Amino acid sequence: MRWEKGFRDPKLAKRIVEKIHEVAPKKDVVKICHVCGTHEWVISHYGIRSMLPETVDVIAGPGCPVCIVPAAEVDEAIQVALKGAVLTCFGDVVRVPGSSMSPLEAKVKGADVRVVYSVIDAVRMAEREPNREFVFFAIGFETTAPSTAAEIVKGSPRNLSFLVSHRLIPPAMELMLGIGDLQIDAFIAPGHVSTIIGLEPYEIFPKAYRMPTIVAGFEPVDVLLAIYMALKQIKNRTAALENEYKRAVRWEGNIKAKELMGRVFKVVGGNWRGIGRIPDSTLALKEEYLKYDAHERHSVKISGGRDIRPGCQCHLVIVGKIKPTECPLFMKACTPQRPVGPCMVGVEGTCKIWAVTSQHSV
Ligand code: SF4
Repeated sequence: MRWEKGFRDPKLAKRIVEKIHEVAPKKDVVKICHVCGTHEWVISHYGIRSMLPETVDVIAGPGCPVCIVPAAEVDEAIQVALKGAVLTCFGDVVRVPGSSMSPLEAKVKGADVRVVYSVIDAVRMAEREPNREFVFFAIGFETTAPSTAAEIVKGSPRNLSFLVSHRLIPPAMELMLGIGDLQIDAFIAPGHVSTIIGLEPYEIFPKAYRMPTIVAGFEPVDVLLAIYMALKQIKNRTAALENEYKRAVRWEGNIKAKELMGRVFKVVGGNWRGIGRIPDSTLALKEEYLKYDAHERHSVKISGGRDIRPGCQCHLVIVGKIKPTECPLFMKACTPQRPVGPCMVGVEGTCKIWAVTSQHSV
């Protein structure tokens, strides 16, 4: 029996769904916000929304790392590639729209853009071609930042530099609480990020905001349990930080990974596509590692950038204000084959997930 079977057990899932119906409010609608593309995939793929009472609304916050990279930073990556460097990036990133084109469209124009599965692939390519300049477009949340940091600490090849676009999840969750007309009642915190940062960064939510916060894993039973735990807290008017994902997440997180991040990066304010500037939410290279900064090495700095194209509603999808089906372009002008906005690009984008699962009809 494979270990995950229990977490996909239909009988157990059914029992939890019954419990959810028992504790869910009878009249008022409560809103539970998750901030993780993988959680959205699990919820959509397993049809979890259709099992919930009408009074429970599960919304997707800014949990897709590709969706929230501002167009200006995509433009910078494209600029270094058009200047002659080899741009290496994750598969989802090649199709993400910048202000006027995506990295893939830049490739069509002659730029050397290569897909990598990890930063290590970029390192190997740079080692194999010492006469070319390579740039790694380092996007992602706390889950991918440690591997970028590890390569920099090790001493990357001298012909490899980094466009660091890593972002931090807890500041984005805090911002969600300030969006007046959203009125979230509980958070489901992302399991992957939490394996790195641990539980402590979420303490602020129950303590300062009275917000029930549940760290959850990525199987259907994990997500259903997290919804049940959140609803129980809402019903009892309590606000606590709970760890549903105990098999992977410890209070202190991954100390080694956090040390690596702290050694290489400093925390600064930064823009998020569709959201704007969030204080203390972005990682930047520390002074001593600026020799690895692609901005410095290739003299790029683009300000501005066109984040949202005409008609695109990604800025509302990213903060859970609307569902993908409420965007007039969804599955008409905007499809996974021809994405208009970033939410239709990556496997963790809410629109893409809704497009490839049965959620169109929900
Ligand atoms: S359907 Fe396309 S254009 Fe509309 S919000 Fe989603 S990604 Fe943006």
